[in-house]
Amino acid sequence: MTARLLDGRALATKIEDSLRAEVQTFAGMFRRRPRLIVVLVGDVAASASYVKSKQQAAARVGIDSDVIRVPAESQTADLVELVQAAAAGDHGPADGILVQLPLPAHVDAVAVLDAVPPHLDVDGFHPENAGLLSQGRPRFIPCTAAGVQRMILDAGLETAGRHAVIVGRSDIVGKPLALLLSAKGPGGDATVTLCHSRSADLADHCRRADILVAAVGRPNLVTAAMVKPGAAVIDVGINRIERDGRSRLVGDVDFDAVKEVAGWISPVPGGVGPLTVAMLLANTLLAAELSSR
Ligand code: NDP
Repeated sequence: MTARLLDGRALATKIEDSLRAEVQTFAGMFRRRPRLIVVLVGDVAASASYVKSKQQAAARVGIDSDVIRVPAESQTADLVELVQAAAAGDHGPADGILVQLPLPAHVDAVAVLDAVPPHLDVDGFHPENAGLLSQGRPRFIPCTAAGVQRMILDAGLETAGRHAVIVGRSDIVGKPLALLLSAKGPGGDATVTLCHSRSADLADHCRRADILVAAVGRPNLVTAAMVKPGAAVIDVGINRIERDGRSRLVGDVDFDAVKEVAGWISPVPGGVGPLTVAMLLANTLLAAELSSR
């Protein structure tokens, strides 16, 4: 069997096309464009490149964006103050504020993220937004989890009554995705197993999945022997490895072997990554709409 490809890039382009039209309608009604502020701490190349692709995508759909760059040595209190100032409008109007992760190790990331007011929290990380999601009345859904669910819906994959296994329980990916897939309604109603580094018999859990999502950050964690024939395998992981003397991006799934067993598979790159960005744009437009009501 060769799995069908879950093409995140093509889906993200489709989402951007409809967002562009919605942004135009918004701009026509309110005589302004939505605006996103990104806080980038330090000069880690990967973070700078993610921020660049977010800005490029924003520009493609007509959302304004600005990046506040601060040195890696910035302290927690400085960053909290900066986020509060951005929220107060000191860096121009803001519909959404995003703090690019990861933050340097000496910074209290929770304190900085908590400083983003819930109505500007387009990443969906604030406890108020996490709480709303857990109660089944989401406002801003964390972008990667929303992107995975969108990928499942777009492929027409049934979730109701199916067994979804998610490997990875982070607050930004695994946990919100478990809430989404187990919530009532379209793209939900699944029975969810949430695995992590202390899960016993990980392979056994994975083999029972109709939908298997890997969100760990370990190349080749998911092998062909861990996949039920015909299952949908969605790879959130992003890992940089050296292969054949070149630096490459790979996911958590052994793609070449797993595609022979799975029914559906998402690639890395070109899978969940572009959808994460598309969902950020959707959240930014939603924030602008909510603040304009
Ligand atoms: P975290 O490091 O916050 O979480 C990783 C999770 O994996 C933890 O729950 C951890 O368990 C679990 N884990 C670690 N080792 C194992 C193991 N051997 N077996 C089972 N579970 C394990 O990562 P994130 O959620 O932030 O990101 C996960 C991956 O997704 C990364 O590669 C990241 O780069 C990528 N990512 C991709 C995005 C995209 O847009 N495509 C967006 C965000 C992240 P425990 O809780 O017990 O420590």
